[in-house]
Amino acid sequence: MAINNTYDVIVIGGGHAGTEAAAAAARMGANTLLLTHRMDTIGEMSCNPAIGGLAKGQLVREVDALDGIMGRAIDGAGIQFRMLNRRKGPAVWGPRAQADRGLYKKSVQALLAEQENLHIVASSAEDLVFDVSARVAGVITGQGQSIKAGAVVITTGTFLRGVIHLGTKQIPAGRVGEAPVVGLAETIERLGFRLGRLKTGTPPRLDGRTIDYSILQEQPGDKPPIPFSFMTDKIAVPQVSCYITGTTVASHNLIRENLDRSPLYSGQIEGTGPRYCPSIEDKVVRFAERERHQIFLEPEGLDDPTIYPNGISTSLPEDVQRDLLKTIPGLERTIMIQPGYAIEYDFVDPRELAPSLQTLRAPGLFLAGQINGTTGYEEAAAQGLMAGANAALFSGRNACFESQPFVLDRADAYMGVLIDDLVTLGTEEPYRMFTSRAEYRLALRADNADQRLTDKGIKLGLVGKDRIRAFKNKTFYLNEARNLLNGLSATPNQLAAIGLNINQDGVRRCAKELLSYKGINRDALI
Ligand code: FAD
Repeated sequence: MAINNTYDVIVIGGGHAGTEAAAAAARMGANTLLLTHRMDTIGEMSCNPAIGGLAKGQLVREVDALDGIMGRAIDGAGIQFRMLNRRKGPAVWGPRAQADRGLYKKSVQALLAEQENLHIVASSAEDLVFDVSARVAGVITGQGQSIKAGAVVITTGTFLRGVIHLGTKQIPAGRVGEAPVVGLAETIERLGFRLGRLKTGTPPRLDGRTIDYSILQEQPGDKPPIPFSFMTDKIAVPQVSCYITGTTVASHNLIRENLDRSPLYSGQIEGTGPRYCPSIEDKVVRFAERERHQIFLEPEGLDDPTIYPNGISTSLPEDVQRDLLKTIPGLERTIMIQPGYAIEYDFVDPRELAPSLQTLRAPGLFLAGQINGTTGYEEAAAQGLMAGANAALFSGRNACFESQPFVLDRADAYMGVLIDDLVTLGTEEPYRMFTSRAEYRLALRADNADQRLTDKGIKLGLVGKDRIRAFKNKTFYLNEARNLLNGLSATPNQLAAIGLNINQDGVRRCAKELLSYKGINRDALI
C-alpha cells in the first residue's frame, strides 16, 4: 500500500506497545501510520504465550477499559484462562490466559484491520526528521522515504542494537530470526538520550509429542473461563490443560558444572536481567539450597505441538540445554525444537520522559514499551495506549496538551503507577508490574477497571461507540442495583428469622451494608 506524505501520528513498531499506540491514536481521530518491519509479526509474542497474571492482568483490564485491543485479542486466542491468587482477597486476583500464539497475532491483526484512521505499512524506520525548533517532524523509512508527522511514537522493543547470546555464540538480532535496529539506535544516541543496556531470556521450545505426560501433574483452567474484555460475553476458543514438572538435583549439578559456559556468568553479558524472572542458571546459583524449581509446560497453540517450558529460561549452550532436559521428569526423551537464548538491548532511561511519555528532549517524540526499560507485553501495551493517546492530542496541536496531557494518577490505575514509577524513579533492571507497587491496590481491582477508567476515556474521545453503549448500559444497571441495596433494610430480628445471624443490637441495616458481613452474600439476601 502506498504511503501518504503526511500523518498526524506515526508509530514505529508493531509489537504490544506499538499496536496499542497506533489503535489509540486512530481512535482519537488522528490520521495514523503504523510502520513496522513485517506484517506477519504484528502482535508477535516474543517469549511466553500468555497474557495477564498478577498485576499484569489488572493492566490488561485497564487497557481494555480504555478501549485498547489486548483484552479482546486474548479473548479471541486464549486456550486456558485462570484467575491467579484466589487464596487472597479479590482485589489482588490476577486474570491470566494461555494464548494460542498464532491466533493471538491473527486477533490483533484483525482488530487493527477494522480500525478507522489507521494505515499499516511494512517498512523499517531508520531516522527521524526535526523542524527548526527541534520538534519532531517526521520519519525516514528504510527505503529512504521521508514522511511528515505531527508526532512520533517509538516502540522498538528489544530491537535497539539487540544481541542474542547462546552459550559463547553472539548473534546481532532483535529477537530470534530478526535483524537488530541500528539506524534508529544511532538517532536516539545522537539526540543525547541517556541509554542503558538490559537483558532478558527465553527457554528452549519443546516438541510436545515427545513429552511423557502420564507421570506429570495436570493443571486445568477455570470452568467456565472468565474473559478479559468487558466487551466479551463468552470464550468460544477450545480450552486445554497445562502440566507441571520440575528440575532435579541432577539438573542443578549439570548447570553448576557448565556455569563457565553460560554467557551470564562468563562476563559476556553486561546488561542487567529481570530479577523476578531469573534464568534457570540464576535460580540455581541464587537459591543454592533448593532441590527443585517448578516448570509449567504450556502449549503454544491448539494445532501446534510446541510446548513452552515456563521456568527454565536459559542461555547455556545448546548441548547443555539438551542434556538438561534429560534430567527433568517427563522430558527425558523430549526433542528440543529451538534452544533458549538471552538477548541484550539498549533502553532509554525513562526519566527522559514526561508523565505523558513525551520525551523531554524532543517535543512531539513519545516512547513506549520495552524501550523504556520495562519487560512484559502488558506493561508495553499500557504505555503504548497512553503514548498513542497523548501523541494524538499533541499532533492535533490541542491547546490543552501542554497543560492537560492524558495522565493517570497512582490512585486511578496500575497504568498510573507504572508510568509514575518509570518517569520519576527510572529503572536499573527490566521493570515489571507487581501488586505491591500499587499503594491503592485494594481499590485498583481487575473487576472494576471499567468503573475507574472508561468514563475518562469517553471524555477524551478514546472510546468507540460500541463500548460507550455497553458501558452506559452496565452503569445504568449498577446504579439500579445500588439504589435497590440502599433502599432495602432489615433489623437483626428480621434477619435472624431467615437464618442470617448478626449482632442483636436492634439497628436496622441496609442491604448494601449487610453485604459486607461475613457469611452474607447476594444469594442469602435474595
Ligand atoms: P516488541 O514486542 O519487541 O515489538 C517491537 C516491534 O517493533 C517489532 O514488531 C519490531 O519488528 C518493530 N520494530 C523495531 N524497530 C523497528 C524499526 N526501526 N522500524 C520498524 N519496526 C521496528 N517479557 C516478559 O514479561 N517475561 C519474559 O520472560 C520475557 N522474555 C523475553 C525473552 C526474549 C528473548 C524477548 C525478545 C523478549 C522477552 N520478553 C519477556 C519481553 C516481551 O517480549 C516484551 O516486553 C514485549 O514484547 C515488549 O513489547 P514492545 O511492544 O515494547 O516490543
